[in-house]
Amino acid sequence: MNFEALKQRFLDLTSDPIAVAHLADKEESPRLIYVNRAFTRVFGHVPEDLSGLPTHRVLPPRTNCPFATAAKSQSDGTNGTKSTQVRIRHADGSIMGATCSFLVMEDGNKGLYICATWRPDTIARESEGFVPDARGSAQQDHAYRKQVGNISETYGMHLAAVLDAFPDPLALHDDHGRPVFKNRAYTALLSQKGLVTEAEDKNGYSTGNGHHHDTLPLQKQAHDADTAGIRLNTPEPLRNGEAAERFSSRLVSALNSYPDPIVIYDADLNLVFCNDGYAASMSDHPEELVEGMHLKEVLHMAIRYGRYPDAVGREEEWVNEILSPTTLGSTTQDVELDGDIHHRLLRSWTANGDHVVIRLNSTELVRQKRAAEAAQARLIAALNAYPAPFVIYDSDDCLVVCNEAYRESMSNNPEDLKVGLHRTEVARIAIRAGKIANAIGREEEWMSDAHQQTEVEKTVQDLELPGDVHHRLLRSRVENGDLVILRIDTTELVRQRRAVEEYSKMLETANRKITYKALHDDLTDLGNRRYLSQKFEEFVAKRKVAGGEIAALHIDLDRFKHINDTMGHAAGDEVLLEVSRRIRNNVGEGEVVARFGGDEFVALLQVPADSQRPEELAKALLEDLSRPAIVKGKECRFGASIGLARTPLADTDKLLSHSDLALYKAKARGRGQLGVFDHSDLENAQRTKAVADDILRAIEQAEFEPFYQPLVDARTGHVVGLEALARWRHPERGILQPAEFLPLATDLNVAGDIDKLIFEKAIRECQQSFGEQENPLSISFNVSENRINDNEIAAIGHHVDSYAGKVSFELLETIFLEEQDNDFLQRLDKLRSLGVAIEVDDFGSGRASVVALQRINPDRLKIDRRLVSLVDQGKEGLRLLKPIIEIGLALELDVTAEGVETPEQAEILADLGCDRLQGFHFAKPMAHQDLLSFLSSWNHGW
Ligand code: C2E
Ligand code: CA
Ligand code: CA
Repeated sequence: MNFEALKQRFLDLTSDPIAVAHLADKEESPRLIYVNRAFTRVFGHVPEDLSGLPTHRVLPPRTNCPFATAAKSQSDGTNGTKSTQVRIRHADGSIMGATCSFLVMEDGNKGLYICATWRPDTIARESEGFVPDARGSAQQDHAYRKQVGNISETYGMHLAAVLDAFPDPLALHDDHGRPVFKNRAYTALLSQKGLVTEAEDKNGYSTGNGHHHDTLPLQKQAHDADTAGIRLNTPEPLRNGEAAERFSSRLVSALNSYPDPIVIYDADLNLVFCNDGYAASMSDHPEELVEGMHLKEVLHMAIRYGRYPDAVGREEEWVNEILSPTTLGSTTQDVELDGDIHHRLLRSWTANGDHVVIRLNSTELVRQKRAAEAAQARLIAALNAYPAPFVIYDSDDCLVVCNEAYRESMSNNPEDLKVGLHRTEVARIAIRAGKIANAIGREEEWMSDAHQQTEVEKTVQDLELPGDVHHRLLRSRVENGDLVILRIDTTELVRQRRAVEEYSKMLETANRKITYKALHDDLTDLGNRRYLSQKFEEFVAKRKVAGGEIAALHIDLDRFKHINDTMGHAAGDEVLLEVSRRIRNNVGEGEVVARFGGDEFVALLQVPADSQRPEELAKALLEDLSRPAIVKGKECRFGASIGLARTPLADTDKLLSHSDLALYKAKARGRGQLGVFDHSDLENAQRTKAVADDILRAIEQAEFEPFYQPLVDARTGHVVGLEALARWRHPERGILQPAEFLPLATDLNVAGDIDKLIFEKAIRECQQSFGEQENPLSISFNVSENRINDNEIAAIGHHVDSYAGKVSFELLETIFLEEQDNDFLQRLDKLRSLGVAIEVDDFGSGRASVVALQRINPDRLKIDRRLVSLVDQGKEGLRLLKPIIEIGLALELDVTAEGVETPEQAEILADLGCDRLQGFHFAKPMAHQDLLSFLSSWNHGW
């Protein structure tokens, strides 16, 4: 057995400080070679600081060294142990008093080992400045320190001798009960009694077998689980005679050298023996303790000396408690003494009924334990204050510690979670309590080993608990194998994150909707202009790879405006929806349609060069869109014109302006036509564009003025009225006829503006010229359909009032081709009530039904000029003309014949019933000034 092992197994176990010094041959002062753990704990010195240094380093200055004294008494022949009062210097410099027992023995090399066991007297220390001792040079110390290792080794071997010198049998056992070490007294005892073989010894030595072999239950657990036992015995053969005497004295000195109190009472509780330690622990005057004293007296004495503060005031009761069989029958008892000193009493009984009591000073242990408990309590309090669940499982997955929050999170009954419970058990409890939402419905699987294993291996895990509560589990294995689990309540975080996610989803949807809206038409859900140009870009990119052409079909409804104006916007919307449905039905995959606003649609196609697909699609659309639709229960015809342009070029704007031009061309040709763009259209278009700009400018500058064509009474030949016809007095091009600007102005939707200019100017001029006359000439105005709206009517009324003569409006027969709604008829009535006569212009060219005519109930019909020209072309012409005039007469309407160019025509028409005539035969349209001179000559000349 080596020194280290001995230290650990024996010397470091005892709670009493032990120091061993060595005095080499011919040296003057002993040097320290070893101090045990208790020494360090009590006096503060650590072995590394001391070993190899002279013993006076742990003594107050200028004191005699008790080690040296003990060594000297050995050489003087005074054998055995010595107990003496010494003073010792604590590492912090303070001085402590102590009782010290010395055991000295030879090292076999003329040197000595001095083994000192200490018992500090008081807790309080005298503080005394430490004066470094000059004795012994640093070099010497250093040299000796180098030797210490060796000396310690030697001492290790000699420790056996030290222990052998110990008079009591002494043995060390490992945790299997096998003896590790036996001292001489122990071995002698065994052989003397011939009792115990090695084998038997293994099973323990505590049964007396009728012999007085008492094992004091002085057993402490070393950290490696070895057991150190000291066995004291009182061998019978040695009880009598000198040997017994000698043995007894050695035993006494041995027991006295033992620093913890040891006492033996007989069966009647009378004191048989006590060592110095016991006497000192019970009395300030140890000599008062005498053999034969009753335990009761001893206790009272101890109370008197203030040893048992608990007992003061209830001495009798307290002593009786101690003397009660319960107390005396217990093998261990912990007592607290004054000054927070703790002793543990170990009781045993010998065969003859003696009580042997050993008291161990357990102050350090108790304090340590208390500190540990306090620390643990504090830790647990801290953990409980922590609001999130926290738990530690040990390396075997058993519960070590957890806080309240964890208990609550795992169980409905917090008592369930006991320390030591296996983790899977805790999981089972939690599942039963419904605490693990993720496990609900799959409990079996959750509890399976495989699952539990994977659960543990997850370092981060998110749990959803009932009630939309969320926890995050953080698991970590710490160095000692413990599993630390921390749960964080992430409910707020999760909810926030979800809110953010929802918000961004909403945002995304909104974004998508906005983008969609930005690219699509609200009404028809077709793409819009921007959408089309995006698609065009895509087509252009594709064409770079695949070649071919891009074709655009510009689709425009022929009669949409009319429907909108006459049937209202809701009907217009219905028509647009129907149209978009039809267009959609006709376009194929990869072909794109967009609505450009109003009644304008564009289809974009990517086709191989010379493909006929665009033309085919255009024809299909023209046909499909010519079919009537039922809107508001009425059959409604719109029809469409289409312009087609195709290009291998990349410029979308150009393509679309080309298809637009082609559309314009189609419209110019009449309704329901397809116009295909060719480059000559560009020139026309440019011209048209220039004219359009010019018209708009001219309206602003009021360059339009009325020319007047007289209306003549068929019977008298008198001029009875005037038709105002628009002329454009162009600053560069002179007087322009309606045919040169009116169609374009209609396209530009400004025909109404021109009407208005003409109307107001004519009223003003004529009021000036004829207002004063007795019978002012009537004035007829050509009115485009959209001028008959509520906004205009009030203004019209005002002007009509300002003219003294009659005013009538000529509306083209085509306006009445379709049945007009009630609103329109009401507006006509309103005009009439303002004094405006309603005439149907160009009657007979269209196919207005008699029914429609009756509903409108006009004041007068003007027979279309082209019919009038038939009048002198024989019977054929007359056959056509006559019934038309007769319709008017039958409906009791006045009839005008216009375009009368010859006197013959005038005569026939008058005969046929026309009461008014108009035409070049009488006069051409002329400016106001010319009219005035015409009128003066005409009325005189007629
Ligand atoms: P309209 O209402 O039928 O007007 C009569 C047209 O016939 C006039 O042509 C007139 O110059 C022409 N005319 C008159 N007598 C004869 C004749 O004996 N022989 C021939 N060959 N022609 C004759 P204008 O002034 O060029 O007007 C053409 C059309 O333009 C008008 O046809 C009318 O529909 C429209 N218009 C003219 N001024 C206005 C206007 O201020 N507003 C609107 N909305 N339309 C107008
Ligand atoms: Ca007219
Ligand atoms: Ca006419």
